[in-house]
Amino acid sequence: MTTERLYYEDAKLFSFRAKVLACEADKKGFLIELDRTAFFPEGGGQSADTGVLGEARVPDVHEREGRILHCADRPIEPGTEVIGRIDAEQRLRRMQNHSGEHILSGVTHRLYGYDNVGFHMGAEGVTIDFSGELDEEQLRRIETLANEAVRADLPIRAWYPSAEELAALDYRSKKELTGAVRLVEIKGVDLCACCAPHVSRTGEVGLIKILAADRHRGGMRLSVVSGMDALDDYRRRLESAGAASRLLSVPQEKIAAGVERVLGEQARLKEHAVMLENELARRMAGQYGETEGNLCVFLPGDLLGEPALRELVNALSEKCGGFAAAFAGSDEAGWRYIIGSRHVDLRANGRAINAAIGGRGGGSPEMIQGRAQAARAEIEAAIGRF
Ligand SMILES: [Zn+2]
Repeated sequence: MTTERLYYEDAKLFSFRAKVLACEADKKGFLIELDRTAFFPEGGGQSADTGVLGEARVPDVHEREGRILHCADRPIEPGTEVIGRIDAEQRLRRMQNHSGEHILSGVTHRLYGYDNVGFHMGAEGVTIDFSGELDEEQLRRIETLANEAVRADLPIRAWYPSAEELAALDYRSKKELTGAVRLVEIKGVDLCACCAPHVSRTGEVGLIKILAADRHRGGMRLSVVSGMDALDDYRRRLESAGAASRLLSVPQEKIAAGVERVLGEQARLKEHAVMLENELARRMAGQYGETEGNLCVFLPGDLLGEPALRELVNALSEKCGGFAAAFAGSDEAGWRYIIGSRHVDLRANGRAINAAIGGRGGGSPEMIQGRAQAARAEIEAAIGRF
């Protein structure tokens, strides 16, 4: 027996009385069939309603051959009269997003002839895939016209046309439809086959905002929020912009300029740090006298960046007959190293050096670099043996 669908008569019916016709155990709980229901099973891109049936929680609803089956966390005896309650806030938001999607798709189709070839409703807002690419100006135009349709507060009508009427109508549809086709019309904006409940006037949709538009499979994927979801999104963005504006000490409209200023300062500081590190490297090298053997220097991890460490090794290489090694780090965290030489072929000796200091790395005959996982004393002893 097909379930009477109360959501088609009244999309804002959030509590209802019904009789339990059947109840069967299922993998996740119980499947309950009623004589009538206001729970919308998933369809047309819209997710299934959630709510309660009496004491039972209903986390999902399915449709099977005209029967609507309510997934429930506990059984209800067939014959029982129950009161069903739908999570109204969630349903209202979904209807705002879904009706908003119809308006936007209708406007896009009318303006540019593109079809909606994919529609997905997420936890907040929707994504819509269009069959053609849209530039920024076109997206702006679509968004403006969609919101003008909201402002016009047009009626949204849904009905089942006769076969003759349907054949004569030009409506949007994602696939060839069989059986009774339900049409949803927003006069002058959109006519589309859809099985989901909608708000009754476009004014109820509230703001329709395109958040992002990306090229996708030869067309465009739009992320769109409408209604209360758009308000939440606006609030979050304001919160984030407010925090950034306080951190930067600039008004919200000048955050980009503020970030640019900070990045400029950062680049100058980086340049200055490199200059100081190089100077420090030269002075450190100046403290060592000439030697026939190897030179080995240990530094705290972050004291010198890689360019300055290389500068130090180059300066030390000129003072020794063997090789010059600089280790930056600690016994706990390990050491990054650079080893340079004017006299020893480091590429040829790299394997032996790495084996001695528990290291990994490589480079040219003049310079190798890598990481070593050994204690400072062990490394010093190993370098001394070369
Ligand atoms: Zn739809």
